[in-house]
Amino acid sequence: MDCLFCKITAGEIPAKKIYEDELVVAFHDIAPQAPVHFLVIPKKHISTLNDLTEADRELAGHILYTAQRLANELGCEQGYRVTMNCNELGGQTVYHIHMHVLGQRQLTWPPG
Ligand code: C5P
Repeated sequence: MDCLFCKITAGEIPAKKIYEDELVVAFHDIAPQAPVHFLVIPKKHISTLNDLTEADRELAGHILYTAQRLANELGCEQGYRVTMNCNELGGQTVYHIHMHVLGQRQLTWPPG
């Protein structure tokens, strides 16, 4: 499959990996939008949030838990944001789901 994040998972494209287990990989975003900006992705290819199924419930929870744990390990105890962009209007550009984690700067609301 011609998927950028599947290639990162397989080690075919380099990424600054922070964490990996049997279900997920976390790595620093190549174009960081905050002093801390990393992505948590499932190893399993899922194109968009809309493609999650009942069978992915545990995986979805693991992605969120991993985001929280790593955010704190990387010094974001004072606050951070998690975001998943879905489809074109949601700002998604890579069609393999990923949770953005941004921290160590004051984030504003609403997002653009
Ligand atoms: O949510 P969206 O699909 O727009 O986010 C994709 C993210 O993947 C971007 O923040 C981009 O910088 C990141 N990216 C990356 N490494 C790549 C290609 C894209 O971290 N090789």
